[in-house]
Amino acid sequence: MRLTSDWHIHSRNSCDGAAITVADLVRGAKAKGIRDFGLTDHIHTPFNLPDLAASREEYLASNPSPRFHFGVEVSVVSQWELDQIAKGLAKSPVYGIRHGGPQGASLAIGLTATDITTFGIEYVVGGTHWPIYVPFEREAMIRDYHRQNMFLATHPLVTIVAHPWWWMGHWKGSDGMFRSEPWFDDFGCIPKSIHREFAAALREHRKVTEINLSAMFFNPEYTDRFKAQYVEYLGWLHSEGVALCSVSDCHSPTYDIRFDEAAAMLERVGIKDAALWRLPPR
Ligand SMILES: [Zn+2]
Ligand SMILES: [Zn+2]
Repeated sequence: MRLTSDWHIHSRNSCDGAAITVADLVRGAKAKGIRDFGLTDHIHTPFNLPDLAASREEYLASNPSPRFHFGVEVSVVSQWELDQIAKGLAKSPVYGIRHGGPQGASLAIGLTATDITTFGIEYVVGGTHWPIYVPFEREAMIRDYHRQNMFLATHPLVTIVAHPWWWMGHWKGSDGMFRSEPWFDDFGCIPKSIHREFAAALREHRKVTEINLSAMFFNPEYTDRFKAQYVEYLGWLHSEGVALCSVSDCHSPTYDIRFDEAAAMLERVGIKDAALWRLPPR
């Protein structure tokens, strides 16, 4: 089995370290046998809209085939930070405002239906990327990430919920690995009821969720045990009738993605390429 689509890819237009040019991406995808794919640069708040404009421009300049699509990756942010930024109260908020907001803040995304039309966006990937003003405590973090994932799974503008339970930053060990909180000592610490509620929301709202290669399967900061548990979790989502899609989440300057290894991992939990979600050609 080979993976033949990729719905989450960053170009050099993203605000983080992503580096590939659109031309190199198109060449790389062809070389890897990826037939259907999409560009999804980051937008956290309207502060990043110039990045999206640059992404669109480079995409169009590549003379895209009907199988190469234009998307975007939004983050869950708070309405509080969107309001602060709109009032000009934040200095250079590349990643929004990550501290100082109210606990229990209303959740939001920094993209409107008008933006989707303006930029010709065909689909929206939405990701939980950071805590929204809750204490660094395991139970609080599990509840917060679940709240964010449910927000995305029920949001009318979101097509794909990105990398469920991806984590970065706090709790990294001195060896650079995540081995403890919030869920790296044992992925089973997240109650099954939470997984069931998320799966039901994805089904009911006809959303897709990700099989994310770079952020999850091949994340060098995650242990093999955690990754094995995570692949089992994806197999369970699949068995529950949740639509899944394969994504690289490429941030590197070359499209050097380990699709064949990922395909073998997925086959072991009964997930085949033919069963994965994909956008039809335009
Ligand atoms: Zn993401
Ligand atoms: Zn991403």
